[in-house]
Amino acid sequence: MELWYTEKQTDSFGITAKVKRSLHSEQTDFQKLDMLETEEWGNMLTLDGMVMTTERDEFVYHEMVAHVPLFTHPNPENVLIVGGGDGGVIREVLKHDKVKKVVLVDIDGKVIEYSKKFLPAIAGMMDDPRADVRVGDGFMHIAESENIYDVIMVDSTEPVGPAVNLFSKGFYAGIAKALKEDGLFVAQTDNPWFKSDLIAQVNKDVKEIFPVTALYTANIPTYPSGLWTFTMGSKVYHPKEVDASLLPHIETKYYTPELHHAAFVLPKFVQDLLK
Ligand code: SAM
Repeated sequence: MELWYTEKQTDSFGITAKVKRSLHSEQTDFQKLDMLETEEWGNMLTLDGMVMTTERDEFVYHEMVAHVPLFTHPNPENVLIVGGGDGGVIREVLKHDKVKKVVLVDIDGKVIEYSKKFLPAIAGMMDDPRADVRVGDGFMHIAESENIYDVIMVDSTEPVGPAVNLFSKGFYAGIAKALKEDGLFVAQTDNPWFKSDLIAQVNKDVKEIFPVTALYTANIPTYPSGLWTFTMGSKVYHPKEVDASLLPHIETKYYTPELHHAAFVLPKFVQDLLK
């Protein structure tokens, strides 16, 4: 009997992946957590039926959420990750020698637990001495933080369920408060095919708070539409002013200094969302 995992990305379109077996499935206090072993993508974490990360394509998202902001800021010593319980972003952050401490706040400890168990190549760095992994609401952590972080990355689920507050203008204002006077942040902001209104709204809100706002993209085959966006808000530094030739070498499979710049070159229909 063949088993397939299907994610309906809209009411009338989705993706389907052949599943070898289910490794774990439970309703946590916050969301439905499924860990699936798939033929095409290796082990796959889904939350509330949405693909979060897979062993085969995870590097794209985790490298692009981490290295673009960390190479834009000249001295990213104190870093915060909101969400990120699968451990992929913190693994990439720890490749930067300038980072002295990275705090990760994920609301659901079960995501951390089962990512460590079934996604060891992704979740393997959460016990690093520079890592401070906490279970809690990122919205509350931001509300309680002031003038602490150089870089903040919002690696949350879609704006539903526990993450609904993480795409509000109030949250971005809180991020500005939690950042130092030359800090910057990046948030994953979904795809322009099915979530164009979200991208436009976040861009508008961030522009009203941060002097520098920029959108960049990456290709993530297991995410809705495959074209993913990231919104950056920065108090001082501009991502396009980074001299790619001066960037220190780090081991990557997707990010390159050239792509750091190319990722900000947007298709016309995406540019039009930002007007
Ligand atoms: N890369 C994925 C994406 O773009 O959809 C996100 C992966 S990561 C596993 C998403 C994490 O956000 C989940 O572990 C979830 O528990 C966490 N999360 C959702 N709402 C949160 C909140 N309010 N505070 C902290 N973490 C939250």
